[in-house]
Amino acid sequence: MVSINDNFHCNGAYVAGDRTIKCWRYPRSHGSETFVQGVQNSCNPVFMAVAERLGADRFYDYMVKFGFTEKTGVDLNGEAVGIIHKKENIGPVELATMSFGQSFQITPLQLLRAASAVVNGGYLITPHFAVKTVDENGNTAKVFEYEKGEQVISEETSAIMRDILESVVSEGTGNKTYIPGYKIGGKTATSEKLPRRSGKYIASFMSFAPADEPQVMCLVLIDEPKGVYYGGTVAGPVMKELLSNILPYMGIERDAEGTEEIFTLMPDVNGMNLKDAEKILKQNGLDVQIRGQGETVYGQFPPADEKINAGTKAIIYIK
Ligand SMILES: [Zn+2]
Repeated sequence: MVSINDNFHCNGAYVAGDRTIKCWRYPRSHGSETFVQGVQNSCNPVFMAVAERLGADRFYDYMVKFGFTEKTGVDLNGEAVGIIHKKENIGPVELATMSFGQSFQITPLQLLRAASAVVNGGYLITPHFAVKTVDENGNTAKVFEYEKGEQVISEETSAIMRDILESVVSEGTGNKTYIPGYKIGGKTATSEKLPRRSGKYIASFMSFAPADEPQVMCLVLIDEPKGVYYGGTVAGPVMKELLSNILPYMGIERDAEGTEEIFTLMPDVNGMNLKDAEKILKQNGLDVQIRGQGETVYGQFPPADEKINAGTKAIIYIK
C-alpha cells in the first residue's frame, strides 16, 4: 500500500467523506513529505491517505490482527477490552479518524501488545508477568516458556518499522526522548477525550529500546495535561528520564559515540596543589567542592578514571 519514499502532501487538513479533518499542525501544514517524514511529523493527513488506500475492510482486518477486538489474555483477572466500530459502520470519516488513533477505545495493554508486534518481528504475543521461579537459595527452579504468538506482519515490515520509529525519536516528534548513544524507537500520541472539543486530552508516548533489538517497551500516559498537550512535548521528557534509568539497570550500554559525548574520565588530582586541581576539574565541566583547609589535595571523589558526566559533583579533600 505504501513504500517508505512515497510522497504525500499536507496542506493542514484532509477531506474524508463529507468532512474536512485537520492536521494537528493546522492552520500550519507539513507541506510535501515522504511516508517516513509523515510518521516523524505525526502528520494526520498522511495517515488518513494511507488508510484510504487500505480501505475500511483491510484496515479493520488489521485492527483484529493486532488484537484490538479482544482481551490480551494477560494473566490477571478483570482485564478490560476496547471499543471498536463495527466493520459495517466504518465509513470514510470513521476510517480517517481511526487512521491516526481516534474514534475508538483501547486499553494501554492492548496498545503495548500491538506496538510490540510492530517491532518484535511481527508476533502478537500474550503478555505475562512470570518469568521464572527461584528456590530459597536463589537458584532458578523453573523458567516459564510461552508461545511466540501469531505472526501478523512480516519480519521485513517489522524491521522497516523499527527504523522508522527510531527516526521518530532521533529526528521527529519524539526527539524529547532522544538520549545520545542509545537507539530508541517511539511514537507520540495525542488523543482528544470525549466529548470532543472539551479541551481535554491524553498525551502519550510509547517507546522501545534498543531500537534494532528491542528488549524493553514503555508507555507513558499523561491524563489531561494542562497547557501544552502534545504527547511528544509532555510525555517525551518523562520517557527520557525513565529510559535513562531503565537501560543502564538492564545492562544496556550506550554506544561509543554517545559515551564520548556524555562521559569523561575523572582526572587524578591527588597530590596537586589546590589551584591546579580546581582548574583541571573545572575544565572537565565538573562542579568542584572543596573539603578542608590548606593547599594540597590528599583525596578526591569520584576516584580517578571513573566515568563521569559533565556537571558531576567532584569533591576534593585538602590539607
Ligand atoms: Zn500535517
